[in-house]
Amino acid sequence: MTTTVPGIPAARGALTGLGPAELLHRLRARSAGQSPVTHVEKLPARAGRPVPWPQWAAPAVISALADRGITAPWEHQAAAAELARAGRHVVLATGTASGKSMAYQLPALTALVEDPRATVLYLSPTKALAADQLRALVRLGVDGVRPATYDGDTPREEREWIRQHSRFVLTNPDMLHHALLPGHARWGAFLRRLRYVVIDECHTYRGVFGSHVAHVLRRLRRVAARYGSEPTFILASATSGDPAHAASRLTGLPVDAVTEDASPRGATTFALWEPPLLPRELDDLEAELPPVRRSALSETADLLTDAVVAGTRTLAFVRSRRGAEVVATMTRRALDEVVPGLGDRVAAYRAGYLKEDRRAIERALLTGELLALASTNALELGVDLVGLDAVLICGYPGTRASLWQQAGRAGRAGGEALAVLVARDDPLDTYLVHHPEALFGRPVEATVLDPTNPYVLGPQLCCAAVEAPLTKADLELFGGAPALAAVEALTVSGALRRRPSGWFWTHRGRPDVDLRGTGGAPISVVESATGRLLGTVDQGSSHVTLHTGAVYLHQGVSYLVDDLDLEDAVALVHAAEPDWSTHARDVTDLSVVSIREYVNAGPVGLFLGEVDVTNQVVSYQRRRIGSGEVIDTRPLDLPPRELRTVAVWFTLSPNLLVASGVEPADFPGALHAAEHAAIGLLPLMATCDRWDIGGLSTANHQDTEAPTVFVYDGHPGGAGFAERAYATAAEWLQATREAIASCGCETGCPSCVQSPKCGNGNNPLDKKGAVAVLDAVLTQLSSATQTGPARAAADA
Ligand SMILES: [Zn+2]
Ligand SMILES: [Zn+2]
Repeated sequence: MTTTVPGIPAARGALTGLGPAELLHRLRARSAGQSPVTHVEKLPARAGRPVPWPQWAAPAVISALADRGITAPWEHQAAAAELARAGRHVVLATGTASGKSMAYQLPALTALVEDPRATVLYLSPTKALAADQLRALVRLGVDGVRPATYDGDTPREEREWIRQHSRFVLTNPDMLHHALLPGHARWGAFLRRLRYVVIDECHTYRGVFGSHVAHVLRRLRRVAARYGSEPTFILASATSGDPAHAASRLTGLPVDAVTEDASPRGATTFALWEPPLLPRELDDLEAELPPVRRSALSETADLLTDAVVAGTRTLAFVRSRRGAEVVATMTRRALDEVVPGLGDRVAAYRAGYLKEDRRAIERALLTGELLALASTNALELGVDLVGLDAVLICGYPGTRASLWQQAGRAGRAGGEALAVLVARDDPLDTYLVHHPEALFGRPVEATVLDPTNPYVLGPQLCCAAVEAPLTKADLELFGGAPALAAVEALTVSGALRRRPSGWFWTHRGRPDVDLRGTGGAPISVVESATGRLLGTVDQGSSHVTLHTGAVYLHQGVSYLVDDLDLEDAVALVHAAEPDWSTHARDVTDLSVVSIREYVNAGPVGLFLGEVDVTNQVVSYQRRRIGSGEVIDTRPLDLPPRELRTVAVWFTLSPNLLVASGVEPADFPGALHAAEHAAIGLLPLMATCDRWDIGGLSTANHQDTEAPTVFVYDGHPGGAGFAERAYATAAEWLQATREAIASCGCETGCPSCVQSPKCGNGNNPLDKKGAVAVLDAVLTQLSSATQTGPARAAADA
């Protein structure tokens, strides 16, 4: 797989050993004029705090760890291990490379040594991480443990052996949901002796997926209890806000948190980087096109090129697969111009690669055959890479937790490291590179999930009923009253039947529940001429991305959609490279179903409640690539889609708006612009991204009878995002206001109030009006808070 390039010295020897400051200086030197670096933060080195091994730790485990060069645990590892040993559920939420694995290995392996029949179940969100953990366990070589991964890649003939003999099974929630729990009878011996359940990278279980996983874990606890075991849960998390609460919501158990990181850390220089504005042509000025920044992808490719030329081993994180490929290709090309063949030392990495390819790339980076890698966040999760000098982060990865995890990849033992965040053309990125205080020295956001979401709860209760009839006592485990209501509704609809011994699943097959899906069968994308299946797209976004006539991108190749057949859930496409792009236009209607909570701030109201959203994609625009000129608008005949979900909204009286300097004619543009930016900034408060949420603004809404901005969860039943927005409204809207006001553009651009997913073609938008709207809301809210919020749980 890997090749050594003749004429290029081995990587380690080639390193020039530039320190982070010199490297940053070198990167900076590329840009003339205004400096792209908006902030440099120096994160100091930290000395580690080792403590003695716990008394109870098995000598075999201690000596295995000692063989790997680990002579003593850090304080946080010992603290978490101690709690787990005492049977307390625990979450360890510390930084990357703080040795979270050892914190669970110590109690888990000790239990396996002490009781030759005890078992441990380990769950990871990705196969790559599970494989990595397996390697670590195999290397430790504790006798009689027989660790094994059990996932979609596990050959059928090995599965039986694993069920019978492995005492440390590494799998993922999907496998637990689809295979292990439904087939629990075959896992009886394993489940009977289950001592620990390890949940690695538990902060990734968020939103709808997280809500599903929360129920899968409750199902696991219920099934284990039937076999007589009550395992202790050990969770590992990236640093996150309130990890004990999140872990407790995830498992349904009381969980203690250990958050004080006692591992040593090298110093890191962290730079925030805003790509420069492109020089403007006279034509642009005449056409009044908004100023455009150099793309974060090109900028990252340039920085990666410079870093490799400087001999620095560097990893670039890019948000999309396609983006990672683009950055790798651009870098390779640029390097080959410097030294022919040097480009071969750069690769792209993503989760979709075959296992062998991934392993080969990981190895080549470790040995230094590869100097640089452009990766999606597939590498973010725990995969053990050492010896990187610098990390480039192309676009804010969505959460501070991810940002720290990615940045934490840089730095060899004791050495100094450089991390650079390259801003994309997006309000959140722009806000962050100009507000370093929002990134540094501030707690990371809370992981949000909502196990009471009825759209998750119902299907999960059906899965549970298949595994064993549901009893009244079980319903407590699944959330009490909402679970009872869901079971009763399922009984009425005929999915479940009530018998004296509990609720039974009435059908032959199992319910079809996808942990990661958001409802509806996915649409298959099929090439008309060959019948080849290119991939699938979930129902929710198919109307926007796969409508008849749409230009659809698949792994860098562009296709035209000939026909979208919703009934058969198939889209027929053919390869084509038209010189236009397509943009769906939609209309959204929203009605308020109920109000859960509100703040009465005089002429301003802030609300949290249930809403019905109807969205219909009605047409699409074709726009010339390059100039963005609209060629035409074509109608579409797609049915409306309905969504009952949770929303946060604020209202203002028209008088207040006028007093704030917004003329009635400008109400729609001001509210619309505020809505876009508010959606863009919500990920600052909750672990969602802007595609998880939707919005609607109107100068007069039929239910509120006032100018209103709604922001709603894009998932049926809500995933906790709107709730979080309501709880942090003052902070959220203040950041939104800052993002708009601090943007250097005149009338609005993608960095502030324009949205890539606007169904109205970003029209009308009033940037100045949006600031006035938000100022008015914030002023009223703060005075309401001072006089005591008139908060109420109301249904009226
Ligand atoms: Zn702007
Ligand atoms: Zn819009």
